[in-house]
Amino acid sequence: MVERTGKNIGGYHGQTIDIQSVLQQIEQAAARKNWVRDADLFAFLRPNDAARARVYISTGIHGDEPAGPLAALQLLQEDAWPAAAAFWLCPCLNPAGFSLNRRENGEGIDLNRDYRHLQSAEVRAHVKWLQRQPPYDLSLCLHEDWEAGGFYVYELNPDHKPSFAEKIIQAAGAVCPIDPSPVIEGRPAQNGIIRPDLNPADRPQWPEAFYLITHKTRLSYTLEAPSDYPLPSRVAALTAAVRAVLELL
Ligand SMILES: [Zn+2]
Repeated sequence: MVERTGKNIGGYHGQTIDIQSVLQQIEQAAARKNWVRDADLFAFLRPNDAARARVYISTGIHGDEPAGPLAALQLLQEDAWPAAAAFWLCPCLNPAGFSLNRRENGEGIDLNRDYRHLQSAEVRAHVKWLQRQPPYDLSLCLHEDWEAGGFYVYELNPDHKPSFAEKIIQAAGAVCPIDPSPVIEGRPAQNGIIRPDLNPADRPQWPEAFYLITHKTRLSYTLEAPSDYPLPSRVAALTAAVRAVLELL
């Protein structure tokens, strides 16, 4: 099993990426396959007239979490999308943050707390785009956590639909340690799964997942790779988890 780097003291101090180069590769990989680039947002649609499921995938909202955009690139290059689904992909919601290797955007706003009050241009543009899209059967938000002892996942599943969380943990756990803590980010967790019992209406600051669960979907997963482990194993964990979900569609 992979070892922790021990580099992340007070923040993420691991490997960074050349975001412009990664975005260019994403653009090229999407163009070679059957993806349609949105005219306004850095977002891609993989249409499918026969789709039984609509799936939304986003990442790169925190500029100190490089595994997300790399996982999006790898998934595009692998091009192993199930025939039964259509996909919407936002591969990097905070490019300015990556240029600065910091969580927030260029103005110091944490975009993943901005989906209620829409202070940032990035989130306003994203929400405007989301409002033009159909509802989703499932959303996957790919993240990293520099403090985490292993991979974990948040599930928002208010209607108690069949859960993908165990499959996500199983797949990620084959390539990366799972966080065994009974409490993660202040919430009860079990085998790397957090099922927060909360009402977005009571929360002053909304992450992207709250916007999605309120307006776009009834099943949302936020995948968190542990960024104190080497970058390739985090990319492998995120891509394995996404593939595991796609296989179940
Ligand atoms: Zn994050």
